[in-house]
Amino acid sequence: MDAAWRIEVHGTVQGVGFRPFVHRLATGIGIRGHVRNAGGHVVISATGPPARLEAFIAGLKTDRPEAARIRDVLVTPGAPGGDVTGFEIVESETASGVSREIPPDLATCGECLRELFDPANRRYRYPFINCTACGPRATIIESLPYDRVRTSMRGFQMCAACAAEYHDPTDRRFHAEPIACASCGPRLRFPSMTGEAAVDVVAGGGVIAIKGLGGFQLVCDAINDEPISRVREIKARDAKPLAVMVRDTVTAGALADLAETDRLLAPVRAHRAGPTAARRAVARRVPWDA
Ligand SMILES: [Zn+2]
Ligand SMILES: [Zn+2]
Repeated sequence: MDAAWRIEVHGTVQGVGFRPFVHRLATGIGIRGHVRNAGGHVVISATGPPARLEAFIAGLKTDRPEAARIRDVLVTPGAPGGDVTGFEIVESETASGVSREIPPDLATCGECLRELFDPANRRYRYPFINCTACGPRATIIESLPYDRVRTSMRGFQMCAACAAEYHDPTDRRFHAEPIACASCGPRLRFPSMTGEAAVDVVAGGGVIAIKGLGGFQLVCDAINDEPISRVREIKARDAKPLAVMVRDTVTAGALADLAETDRLLAPVRAHRAGPTAARRAVARRVPWDA
């Protein structure tokens, strides 16, 4: 005899590939129903034999995506939905004053980095590459629940190839809200007055402004005093430390002592120079639960 449960999952569960994960888990175990974002949490309607439902709940905790943090799982018995077939991701309910946790931006994952440098990949050297495990979140979110229509990616219509990945449950970009490629997503260009490449300007002691998805960043060579003095002058910031960009946490570890929490927060802190909304989001995320 099938049972139907309503399962609420609270914590950092939006923007970390949680719904695609729930979909894979449910279809793997043979659970029917749906999952959706609601406010800052995720609501799952699950129908199946009680033993499978138990296995499903256990799987939510043990197999969760790396960046997801589960604080609470609330289970309420519901009416058995006998005619439910399959499992799907449904439209979010719009937020209504419930707790909101804005997911942090996540540094580019290993798989995306591999694609980025693979000349045969259609996202070869595409700077805004991302997937359900990585990419911008806090920076692009305008309101919750986290869906593309409530992000600054809203204006970019997905091309057929991106749409196919977005809708394929077996694809690692299944429901990756900021999904994009060179033919449909944001582009990067450097309008230099002298025709130089951005990297040459920085290497030559210049200062460049990068307009990202969330605001402007002034960038210069961190070991050259001259442009740093210029940045301090432009920003009227004569003593306060400036953020230093490094390739990865290994490089950062060579420059400073990093605690484990620093390593976890690294992708979040990289964006603290973003707009006020993102900065607020980051501030809320600092007590990162283990
Ligand atoms: Zn990725
Ligand atoms: Zn595309």
